[in-house]
Amino acid sequence: MAATEKRLVEIARRGLMLVISSPSGAGKSTIARNVLEADRDMSLSVSVTTRERRPSEIEGVHYHFVSRKEFERLKNSDSLLEWAEVHGNFYGTPREPVEVAMSEGRDMLFDIDWQGAQQLQDKMPADVVSIFILPPTMTELQSRLNRRAEDKAEVIATRLKNAREEIAHWREYDYGVINDDLDRAFASVRCIVEAERLRRDRRHGMFDFVSTLLA
Ligand code: 5GP
Repeated sequence: MAATEKRLVEIARRGLMLVISSPSGAGKSTIARNVLEADRDMSLSVSVTTRERRPSEIEGVHYHFVSRKEFERLKNSDSLLEWAEVHGNFYGTPREPVEVAMSEGRDMLFDIDWQGAQQLQDKMPADVVSIFILPPTMTELQSRLNRRAEDKAEVIATRLKNAREEIAHWREYDYGVINDDLDRAFASVRCIVEAERLRRDRRHGMFDFVSTLLA
C-alpha cells in the first residue's frame, strides 16, 4: 500500500513476531533484508552476541556486540527473551524492544536459530509466525557455501554438518519455504506475512468494527 493511501477502515491488531531460520547458505539473510526493505511495518530485532564483529557489520544495526560478561549479566537479569549458543558464540534477543513493539501493534522479524525459535514459540505462541527456509538441494547449499567461503574445506564441512542438524528441525516451524528461486521465496514470505496479519485472533479491532457495523 502506498504511504499516502488512507483506508476507509483501519483495524487495530497485535504485532506479529516473524521468526526466520535456515541453515547457513540457504538465503535467509537476503530474504530477511528484502522483507525489511519492502515492508515498513516490519522492524528487525537486533540481537546481542558475543561473536566478533565482521568488518561489514555495524554495531546496533546488525548486532549489539557484547563481552561474555555483559552477556551473562543480561541473561541473569532476565533481559533476554531467548538465548542460545550457536557455533561456539552466544546470541540472545533483547526483551524490551519486542514487548514494546508487540503492545504497539508493530511487527518484528527475528533472524534466529532453531533453539531461539523454540523458546519464542513456547513463550509467545500466539504472536510467533515461524518460517524455515530450505535450500533446493544439499549440492546447491554446498556450492553457495563455497561461493561465499572465507576459507578451508573443513570450515565448509562443519557448516554442512551444522546445516543438517538445523534442517532436522524444519517441522517445528509453521511454514517451510524452499529457496530455489529468490524472488519466489521472497514472494512466499510476503504472502505468509500478509495472511497472518489478517488472522481474526490477531485483529482485536474487529470486535469494535463489527459492533459499529451492526449498530
Ligand atoms: P551469524 O554469526 O552468522 O550472524 O549467526 C549465526 C546463527 O545465529 C544464525 O543462524 C542466526 O540466525 C543465529 N542467531 C542470530 N541471533 C540470534 C539470537 O538472538 N538468538 C538465537 N537463538 N540465534 C541467533
